[in-house]
Amino acid sequence: MIEIIEIEHGYRTIITCDVCHERIVDARMAVAVRWSHGSVWHLHKGKACHDRAERMVPAFRRGFMELREHIEQIDHNTRLPAGPA
Ligand SMILES: [Zn+2]
Repeated sequence: MIEIIEIEHGYRTIITCDVCHERIVDARMAVAVRWSHGSVWHLHKGKACHDRAERMVPAFRRGFMELREHIEQIDHNTRLPAGPA
């Protein structure tokens, strides 16, 4: 899940695991899982969170990719302007 949290001098965007709800602090240790209905979950890479996600929704899994690659795709595929239009 992508969240915005308030910090001392503003706000920061963070990604939390959709299974354990802990903050993902290393993109190399996380994946994005796409479900057949189109939503995406962000998970810690590794047995605990990954296995738990598959048990939660086994029939809907469509694949996963490294979190870093997913973040690049969001930037590229949404084609949102970086500044004022
Ligand atoms: Zn997790």
